[in-house]
Amino acid sequence: MPELPEVEVTKLGIAPHLLGQSISAVNVIDGRLRWPVPKSLPTALPGQKVHTIERRGKYLLIELDAGYLLVHLGMTGTLRVLPCSDPLKLHDRVTFEFGKLSLRLHDPRKFGAVLWHPKSKGPIEKNLLLQKLGVEPFSPEFAGELGAEILYQTSRKRSVAVKQFLLAGQSVVGVGNIYCSESLFEAKIHPSKAAGKLTRPQCSRLAEAVRLILKKAIAAGGSSLKDFVNSDGDPGHFMVQTKVYDRKDQPCKVCKTPIKQIVQGQRSTYFCPSCQKR
Ligand SMILES: [Zn+2]
Repeated sequence: MPELPEVEVTKLGIAPHLLGQSISAVNVIDGRLRWPVPKSLPTALPGQKVHTIERRGKYLLIELDAGYLLVHLGMTGTLRVLPCSDPLKLHDRVTFEFGKLSLRLHDPRKFGAVLWHPKSKGPIEKNLLLQKLGVEPFSPEFAGELGAEILYQTSRKRSVAVKQFLLAGQSVVGVGNIYCSESLFEAKIHPSKAAGKLTRPQCSRLAEAVRLILKKAIAAGGSSLKDFVNSDGDPGHFMVQTKVYDRKDQPCKVCKTPIKQIVQGQRSTYFCPSCQKR
C-alpha cells in the first residue's frame, strides 16, 4: 500500500512534468473508484493550468485554475507520466492529458480516488477528507519538541495501544504499518503500551523516530524518481532494510533477541521484546 513516503516521491516525480502545463483532455476509463470520479471532469478541466502540487497526508492536491484535484492512491494505485502515444494498460482508470504527455492513474484494486474541490467551496484545508488529519511530520508544527508535545497532549487519557494510536494518523499523519513498527523500535517503546501512558521523554524519542524513519524512506525512494516517466515500474516500498518489520524470529539488530510478531487491529506489528520494554 502506498504510504506517505511513496506519495511524497510520487509528488516529486510528477511535479516537474506538470507544473505550469494546461490540461488538454481528461479520460475516465473506469470511474468506479473508492468514490465515483466526478462525471464533470472531462468537460470542466481542459484548459485549466496546474499551479501547485502538494501532499497532505496521503492525498495529492493538484491545484488548477478553478479548484483542486484530490488524488489518493488507495491500496494499489500509481501515477505515471507517459507519452500520450503509449497504449493504455489494463487497470488504467483515469488519464489527464497535457499536450503530448499523459498523467495516468493505474489502480488494479480501485481503492484510489480522484475528487474535485472547487475554489468556490473555500480553502482546500477545509475539505472534509483533510480536516481531521493530524499534523504533517515535516511541518514546523511537528519540529523538535513541538512534535513531542503534540504526541503527548493528543495521547492523554487514551487507552488504545500506541501502535494503533500512531497508525490512526489523528496526531501525526503518515506513519503507516511498516513505519509504525520501525518508529517504535527506534524509540524503544513497546507497541502495546497504552498511548495515554507515554512519558514525555518517550514522546520526544517517538517524534524524533517518526521524522527519521519517514525521511529515510523518502530518501530511499528518491532513487526511483526517474521511473515516473516512461516506465512500467512499481516503486513499491522504499524501506529495503527494516530493523523489525517482517523479521519474525530473526535476531534483533541491536541485542540479538528474536523479533516477535503480534497482531493489533488486524495488522501485524513487529518488535524486539528486549529493546522495547513496556
Ligand atoms: Zn533488541
